[in-house]
Amino acid sequence: MPAAEPQVTLVQHTERPDEVIAAAARLCYAADTEGLFEGAAQDAHDLVARLARMGHHSPLEHASFTFYLEGVSRALTHQLVRHRIASYSQRSQRYVAHDSFDYVVPPELAGRTVQVNGRAVDAVEYFEETMALIAERYAALNDALGRTGESSNQDARYVLPNACETKIFVTMNARELLHFFAERLCRRAQWEIRRVADMMLARVRPVAPATFQDAGPKCVRLGHCPEGKLTCGRYVEMIRIYRVADRETSP
Ligand SMILES: Cc1cc2nc3c(=O)[nH]c(=O)nc-3n(C[C@H](O)[C@H](O)[C@H](O)COP(=O)(O)OP(=O)(O)OC[C@H]3O[C@@H](n4cnc5c(N)ncnc54)[C@H](O)[C@@H]3O)c2cc1C
Repeated sequence: MPAAEPQVTLVQHTERPDEVIAAAARLCYAADTEGLFEGAAQDAHDLVARLARMGHHSPLEHASFTFYLEGVSRALTHQLVRHRIASYSQRSQRYVAHDSFDYVVPPELAGRTVQVNGRAVDAVEYFEETMALIAERYAALNDALGRTGESSNQDARYVLPNACETKIFVTMNARELLHFFAERLCRRAQWEIRRVADMMLARVRPVAPATFQDAGPKCVRLGHCPEGKLTCGRYVEMIRIYRVADRETSP
């Protein structure tokens, strides 16, 4: 039952996403449709950037991106699937037995201790022991249920933890991905989904640089933080990290 680390694979995407989005946007304003698919990369870059500024987001829906996420927790996928304008396929805890499941260890546990009967126990060790105990109980319950596959897995899984490693396919169009990044790259989102969103952004930026040039937490897209008292106060740092134009001009 090793500890899991996230892996993000960009499985496939619309061919030439920036150009497809630019052509769809050009069509909206084209009296003459000759040369709809022509135009230099710079032209597409400027046009897609203009769409974002104008709030003309529907052309972004013509480009889709499919990711394969592994080494992530059920806690993460529960947050992920709240994003409804997307398609998902996740490894089932009904069809697949989870006797020796991998799990995600929250990094914040490192260096902390838990008091057990007056003794200080390393928090990561305590967490790992808990996972081992759950796996043992899962196996015992699955046996008690007759180990019949789907019908015993589905009830034994009630003891599995949020930390349990899972794998999921997710497809989002560029509009939804930008919204997903805005919400989940925000410092208020949890560390695991933020880390995975960062990895997803790193995969799509090279294939659609124009579309994702201003991608980032919502403060980067809005030009201010809407979180009020809950703000992380790191707006300037977020701009430097995420906005490509600012990154390219900063020393
Ligand atoms: C930091 C953080 C903390 C959170 N905490 C909680 C929490 O405590 N409890 C909780 O339940 N959730 C929580 N969430 C989840 C959050 O409420 C949303 O469910 C999640 O972020 C999905 O985003 P969304 O609803 O904007 O849009 P998506 O499902 O990604 O949809 C994109 C957009 O499409 C539109 N849309 C989609 N479906 C509809 C619809 N049915 N009707 C009208 N418009 C629609 C909306 O404009 C929406 O913004 C949290 C999210 C974050 C980022």
